[in-house]
Amino acid sequence: MAFGFLADRRRDRLRAKPLDPAWHAALERNFPVFLRLSPADQAELIGHIQVFLAEKHFEGCGGLVLTDEMRVTIAAQACLLLLHRETDYYPDLTSILVYPSGYTEESVRHVGGGIWEEGPEDRLGHTAHRLGALVLAWDAASHGARDPSDGQNVVLHEFAHQLDFENRSADGMPALDTHAQYVAWARVMSAEFDALRVAEARGEPTVLDGYGATNPIEFFAVATEAFFERPRELKTKHSALYAELQKFFKQNPEEFSDPQTAA
Ligand SMILES: [Zn+2]
Repeated sequence: MAFGFLADRRRDRLRAKPLDPAWHAALERNFPVFLRLSPADQAELIGHIQVFLAEKHFEGCGGLVLTDEMRVTIAAQACLLLLHRETDYYPDLTSILVYPSGYTEESVRHVGGGIWEEGPEDRLGHTAHRLGALVLAWDAASHGARDPSDGQNVVLHEFAHQLDFENRSADGMPALDTHAQYVAWARVMSAEFDALRVAEARGEPTVLDGYGATNPIEFFAVATEAFFERPRELKTKHSALYAELQKFFKQNPEEFSDPQTAA
């Protein structure tokens, strides 16, 4: 998507706005990662949050009354994925729908080997290519922000899907900088995906959540959760995967991960 001149100016103005002190307090209260970022990254994140909140439409669903605190807590996690990179702020995404808690939806899903399963599925979040919307359960989004080291984060997961869609296809491969990076990404991700499927089938414990074995799209979302939530463990046990994610995200979450959760 084109970065229009007027949009750029508007975004510059939004990024330069001082953050509402109540929002700042909400960040500190709900998102411990924020306090561990460098001052430069905190400033960059705050700028992104202001653009994000100005451009995205939030809607409370299932009786949820949305507050600024909820919006800021969700935006902060979504914008963590944007740090250090040129970004158009999830251009395909218009609306974020927030439910009070997990919800059940009828779905048809591929469980592998050409087998499809139909039935109710418990969901904490959802988004899809060309949907324009992203759905979150507030209790899960809040828990993900408060516990940045359990390896699970529904906001990072769903927004990783949005990054995947930015290069016009949903395939577990976001827009990368160079041809060499695409080649390396494809090689590393397919090997890691295969390894996770094997480990899942054998019931072996893994750093990556077993849900990542569903397909390459879910693999990228699950790997993103592990990259930000369990960077040391991921780097130790899956160094090639960590390296590709580090090149894409242009971040090293080891620097701001919880010092008490060393691998
Ligand atoms: Zn997913």
